[in-house]
Amino acid sequence: MELDDEIDALAAVRGDTVDLVILHMPLYESIDSDLPNVLRDISPMPYLPVMIMSSSSAEAQRCRFLNSGADDVIHEQTSAVEVQARIRAMLRIKNLYDQLASSRSALEQVLNREQELLIALREDNKKLEAKCTTDPLTHVLNVRSFGGILEHEFKSAKRYGASLSILALDIDHFKIINDTYGHPSGDYVLKELAVILTQSVRESDVVARTGGEEFCILLPKADQSQAMLFAERIRQQVSQRKFTVFGQDIHVTVSLGQATFPDNAEITAAGMLTYFADQALLLAKDTGRDRAVRFCDMPQEQRIRLRQQQLDEKTFRDGPWVPHCEMIDVEIQS
Ligand code: GH3
Ligand code: MG
Ligand code: MG
Repeated sequence: MELDDEIDALAAVRGDTVDLVILHMPLYESIDSDLPNVLRDISPMPYLPVMIMSSSSAEAQRCRFLNSGADDVIHEQTSAVEVQARIRAMLRIKNLYDQLASSRSALEQVLNREQELLIALREDNKKLEAKCTTDPLTHVLNVRSFGGILEHEFKSAKRYGASLSILALDIDHFKIINDTYGHPSGDYVLKELAVILTQSVRESDVVARTGGEEFCILLPKADQSQAMLFAERIRQQVSQRKFTVFGQDIHVTVSLGQATFPDNAEITAAGMLTYFADQALLLAKDTGRDRAVRFCDMPQEQRIRLRQQQLDEKTFRDGPWVPHCEMIDVEIQS
């Protein structure tokens, strides 16, 4: 199209039908020296070639046009054949620009898509990690991830000479709750108990479900007396709490066993900590339930026997912690 008015020219270039512009500039004075760049800026094309047709053949003038952003300068006396050849050459360059721009946009789309996939993958990984490390019913840590944390905390306590306590907790007569009120009611009690535990611990403490109705609470930097205070608090909280199922309040109690490194001198490996807490829990069960028992409350000869048995197990000498080792029979002395 041919336009006489500059405003019309600007409006035309804004649309997406103009592939190339030839500015006819007969008078040197009337030149807006930045016009080629202005046209290029407002054009939606990746690149808009701008040629200038001039009445001047002076070299300085041609250079001035080229420096002002023109892609080519042709004299108005140039033959139509040559003008057409120059337009074709210019359009070839424009074509390359267009191809480059469309490849770039396609590449950007691929990169954006990959970015989205990466974000989705990270979220999936987070969910997967949470699934792998937490118990689906109570949302506290599962036994596997608890084992890793225990190993780490034990090494750290050993290295820095810090206390590390563990409480093994088991719901008393849980089977009766299941049998009387049904499995879903038992699940409800488990979930509520997990809430009590997680709300009672410090941020640095770790709560895990280590069995059906069994939980472990790891208390870094807590010595024996601090651990027992906490155990007693938990015991009372559970005992005083009303667990309501089918409109009925169930009375739930828990038993706890405690062991502490290095207060219990027998403990030389992470696995011993849980094993001895389990043994103390067993004693709590055998002596009436609804109580917290310290490992050191066990008769000394039994503790020596337990330690010897554990030392005989290669696992406790140099292997990783094995979740919930078998409890052995302990003779209770009255
Ligand atoms: P004790 O005081 O000696 O610990 O007796 P208990 O009845 O609590 O212990 P026992 O080992 O006899 O029974 C535990 C029950 O816990 C049996 C099992 O069916 C139940 N249980 C295990 N996992 C789950 C669970 O995820 N949900 C429910 N509702 N019950 C479970
Ligand atoms: Mg139980
Ligand atoms: Mg049990």
